[in-house]
Amino acid sequence: MMVIPSCTSYSKKHSVEKYDCTKDQEIEKIIPATPGIIMHPERCDDYIFNKQKLSKAIHIFVEEYSNTFETSELLVWEMLRGLRIEVSIIPKIVPSAYDKNGKKLKNPYVSGLALSKSQIWVEIKTSQIWTSSLIHELIHVIIWKLNDVHGDPDHEGKQFSGWTKKHSKLIKRINDRLFRLDI
Ligand SMILES: [Zn+2]
Repeated sequence: MMVIPSCTSYSKKHSVEKYDCTKDQEIEKIIPATPGIIMHPERCDDYIFNKQKLSKAIHIFVEEYSNTFETSELLVWEMLRGLRIEVSIIPKIVPSAYDKNGKKLKNPYVSGLALSKSQIWVEIKTSQIWTSSLIHELIHVIIWKLNDVHGDPDHEGKQFSGWTKKHSKLIKRINDRLFRLDI
């Protein structure tokens, strides 16, 4: 889960596309060159990530994660197999969530959620993927897959284990790289 500062700017091109279910019947988008990763919009009238750009972002995630944690890319891909990514431009309010230091917040707006080890929800905040919580939620998924019980909802907090400063730095590094690539 990622708690958002309330600041958004929109110029809708590049990595984000308009979705309208009355014109586009294909709700579930299979993300190319991934092991069955699927994206779908939350609403009929919504926005989605461009499939190619999303694929590229996930490839960069897998490469960087594998280098940072000295694990094979194949293993990382295996943990992402069949992942469902629900997207929307409308943020959510949840009863409670933790910020990145593990502080519990009541009724916060969130820009992303790891719903299970194989399903995430990501808010589309701008025209580019690097501003979204996608990479953050992918880290939750990997942690969840590794310990099988939880995705470490309190991040660097002490109540749940898994998430370290190394994870937080990795997210920043990947998003910086996506930014430079205009993704
Ligand atoms: Zn989180």
